[in-house]
Amino acid sequence: MAKIWVVVQQREGQLPRISWEAVAAAQKLAAHLGGGKPEAFVLGAGIGLAAAEVAKADLAAVHVADDEALRTYTPGGTIGVLAAAIRAGRPDYVIFPHTYQSVDFVPRLAQETESGLLPEVTGFAAGDGGLVWTRPILGGKLQSKVKVKGEGTVLVSVQSGAFPADGVIKGEAPLQPLAVDPAGLRADREILGYEEVAGEKVDLTKADFIVAAGRGVGGADKMGPLEELAKVLGAEIAASRPVIDGGWLPRDRQIGSSGQTVAPRLYVAVGISGAIQHLVGMKGSSVIVAINKDPGAPIFSVAQYGIVGDLHEVVPALTAAIQAAKG
Ligand SMILES: Cc1cc2nc3c(=O)[nH]c(=O)nc-3n(C[C@H](O)[C@H](O)[C@H](O)COP(=O)(O)OP(=O)(O)OC[C@H]3O[C@@H](n4cnc5c(N)ncnc54)[C@H](O)[C@@H]3O)c2cc1C
Repeated sequence: MAKIWVVVQQREGQLPRISWEAVAAAQKLAAHLGGGKPEAFVLGAGIGLAAAEVAKADLAAVHVADDEALRTYTPGGTIGVLAAAIRAGRPDYVIFPHTYQSVDFVPRLAQETESGLLPEVTGFAAGDGGLVWTRPILGGKLQSKVKVKGEGTVLVSVQSGAFPADGVIKGEAPLQPLAVDPAGLRADREILGYEEVAGEKVDLTKADFIVAAGRGVGGADKMGPLEELAKVLGAEIAASRPVIDGGWLPRDRQIGSSGQTVAPRLYVAVGISGAIQHLVGMKGSSVIVAINKDPGAPIFSVAQYGIVGDLHEVVPALTAAIQAAKG
């Protein structure tokens, strides 16, 4: 029976959905590898309630590292706790949610504990002589199949949306305090605070029609034709993450794993490649129309209607056709 651990991410006692997805992945992996229950780890300060929430899942134990030195996340503090636990406990697999935070510390943790590293996993299956893991590469255009060589612990981060949170098996797990050795913690970063990104709050979940812009649109100054299309459709404008990060649209227009999840009657994806973090936020739409110049773009795998072409030509033509049809 394999020894599976899962590290649950929390901030200010709140557990993001992807933490539950990691628990679901750990439970699925444990069942696949001969039963048994995974053990969870929660790190922070004043995290009793969050740990109690995790303990409502079917787990062998929830280890709680509750220490003032862990109040705000730092890679040095997190690695200090987890590296000691991994060296002492020698788990076969440790599952993490794939987030900006785990991207920050898990590779270093792998290096310090001489563990294998499998980032951005979306699935696994039995293969010849062991598990075969699936990871999207090249922006989701290809799915790589990976086998781990050698012995020892493997650290795995799971992509958001790949192991749905509603797959978590409920149960009752004992809470176990995890002693924190202050000498092992390296406060290698001082977090001065977090700032919520300001902006009007738009609730895109209520929209029936959405026109979403991707990086392919090319810039804030090229949004005009999309706004025209949205106007004739009576649609809200939304976007993929690079559009938001580039400041072309306000943050509350972002769709995806770190934005809003929508299910409108019509979703028009313009110049969006279809990375998994975007797809999890919109794949429940009733009808998806994708406009992309690359016929191999993964967005076409979820679209009912696909237009392969230059969006700068297709979008005005579509707007004119809709206007003509409306009379
Ligand atoms: C932890 C984490 C969280 C994330 N959260 C989110 C999230 O919430 N939402 C999100 O969207 N992403 C998120 N991402 C980013 C995600 O991985 C992708 O990088 C992003 O979705 C890509 O955006 P895009 O499709 O607009 O850009 P690209 O992947 O660059 O795609 C641009 C597309 O436009 C097409 N194109 C270019 N020019 C034209 C043209 N003239 N005509 C037609 N087509 C054209 C290209 O063929 C390409 O397919 C997250 C990533 C991480 C690591």
